[in-house]
Amino acid sequence: MKRANSRPVRAGSVTIGGGHPIVIQSMCATRTQDIDATVAQARMLHEAGAGLVRIAVDSTKDVEALAEVRARVPEANLVVDLQENYRLVTQVAPHVNKVRYNPGHLYHHEKQKPVRDKVALIAETAVRHDLALRVGVNCGSVDPEMDAKFAGADEPGLEGVRAMVESALEHCGILDSLGFTRYVVSLKDSDPKKVVAGNRLFAAQRPDVPLHLGVTEAGMLPDGAIKTRIAFEQLLTEGIGDTIRVSLTLPFAEKWREVEVGRQLIDDIEAGRFRSVPKNFGEGLNIISCPSCSRVENEAFVDLAFNVKEMAAYAKDYNVTIAVMGCRVNGPGETDDADLGLWCAPNFVNLKRGEEELGAFQYDTVLDRLKAELDAIIETKRKPAAV
Ligand code: SF4
Repeated sequence: MKRANSRPVRAGSVTIGGGHPIVIQSMCATRTQDIDATVAQARMLHEAGAGLVRIAVDSTKDVEALAEVRARVPEANLVVDLQENYRLVTQVAPHVNKVRYNPGHLYHHEKQKPVRDKVALIAETAVRHDLALRVGVNCGSVDPEMDAKFAGADEPGLEGVRAMVESALEHCGILDSLGFTRYVVSLKDSDPKKVVAGNRLFAAQRPDVPLHLGVTEAGMLPDGAIKTRIAFEQLLTEGIGDTIRVSLTLPFAEKWREVEVGRQLIDDIEAGRFRSVPKNFGEGLNIISCPSCSRVENEAFVDLAFNVKEMAAYAKDYNVTIAVMGCRVNGPGETDDADLGLWCAPNFVNLKRGEEELGAFQYDTVLDRLKAELDAIIETKRKPAAV
């Protein structure tokens, strides 16, 4: 496979970029503070072949659990996903090999503090603890200033791509100016077209920076694997991409399938076996669902996602997007582009239609309301996309 000339970035025992084999990653979906479950999941993902295992950390209690997981699974390379609370980096650093931060989340805390100072803290901590970094930008959570600056800059269907790429370039510039080059970048969205466009645009400007590829909220099998394949086949054959994560909604005990799907995909591309996309794929009903992680508000989320898919099957020929998210951190933003969006709270599910919030519903009643809304949307569609 043709490889781009990206620089090598070491994270624990694996090296990303620089012509090294593509590293497959995955993420624990268990509650980080459920130490036994997280240890079992980290071990399972490592044994399945994940070169990096990511864990979500949001609190000091999560950090304490992380330290225990580190001690019990020393063989895995661990990555932590920082969200708004970027200052946790100093606490998590001794226990991991890599840290991911999202530029779109640095704006939430300490609004007066320059972003450069926040990035400097993360980079200094990474140097002190021998860590790699990932600048992980998502189309659905680009920082608001960048989003406003590039509003209208994209072709129809690729809205938000330019802002996502510019945000990544801005942070590469900050890290470079701090003298920190041990970082990779990811540019993700749930739409494979945006993933392809964003990564191509970025790679053309920064071929030296290793890229982590992923289609967020790709959903359940088999559609989740197909969406991912659409993006990865195009990018990897162009030499774009040094590490991958396949984000699938799966029962916790089956998270190893993310690694299996990723490996199969790489093997196929390396062997020149390109799978044709099923006819009319991308038309009709589109269900987006997150892969879940420690932040999931209720473990009923996975069942909810599968039940939504089953309930909505009758609408397969209509161009309707339903997004199902596991938490309040990313739920509201990541459902913005969907016709119908659901995101979990501990004891209820939030529902919205377009940008209109419809309220909170019990886990066992939300499907009835969702169906009513879906029926109403179908009524407004003049004709099925494909029959
Ligand atoms: S939406 Fe929330 S629960 Fe789902 S993967 Fe993202 S952070 Fe985790």
